[in-house]
Amino acid sequence: MVQKERALVITGNWKMYKTFDEAEAFINGLLPNVKDYKTKICLALPYTLIMPITHNFNDIPILFGAQNMNDASEGAFTGEIAARMLKDAGAQFVLLGHSERRHLYNEDDAFINRKVKRAVKDGISPILCIGETKEEHEANRAQEVITRQIKEGLAGIEVEQLHSLGIAYEPVWAVGTGKSATPQMAQDIHHFCRNLLAEMFTPEFAEKVIIQYGGSVTPSNAEELLIQKDVDGLLLGGASLSLDSFTQIINHAESILNRKVESI
Ligand code: PEP
Repeated sequence: MVQKERALVITGNWKMYKTFDEAEAFINGLLPNVKDYKTKICLALPYTLIMPITHNFNDIPILFGAQNMNDASEGAFTGEIAARMLKDAGAQFVLLGHSERRHLYNEDDAFINRKVKRAVKDGISPILCIGETKEEHEANRAQEVITRQIKEGLAGIEVEQLHSLGIAYEPVWAVGTGKSATPQMAQDIHHFCRNLLAEMFTPEFAEKVIIQYGGSVTPSNAEELLIQKDVDGLLLGGASLSLDSFTQIINHAESILNRKVESI
């Protein structure tokens, strides 16, 4: 019997997709299906959508966030965006260290650490994305890489500041490739991350942290991933762009939560 110990969170990362009209139609299509759901639904929006979407859809059971931000509070950084601006626009969370940022834009752990510090200081919940590349995976270095990304990503931050931290394990070889980690692989790494957080901070803190899996999740593999003990949610790229697949995956999460209620 599945007994989820933490909330279940389904996050869509829309990357560089969707205009306002497309986003509005998507959310209007999603809402009637999910209005009484216990599953937490989050959407990481393109910057241009944050203000109009949060303005048009307030008081709905979807949390809106951003996909990236700069580490400075403000300044002469053409094309960048600050945590304060995201918050002002209505964002409640921000993805930091997504593999596309790390690998296409050369963001390193030190830069990501400064962004996490800035996010917690300026009151926006950071979701720290971590994950090993294909070469690292094949060389059995996943745990080593993840240890570095978590230790350096959260260096110098007190546990009291991290109450809103989320982690997303997204193996780079699985993001956008159609090749997902197996449920057991995801469970093993999530469990490893939780133990590491317990060592770095406290066991109580580690037990509460939401750790989402991301990388080629579809309606067909979502349930098996979600029933793993340490998988507290899914971060979806491609599957979050279609209303049909996003809704199907949310429905899987909700049916797992309802099974728990029935089993009590
Ligand atoms: C992502 O980019 O965060 C992601 C998980 O992408 P996909 O689901 O398409 O693999």
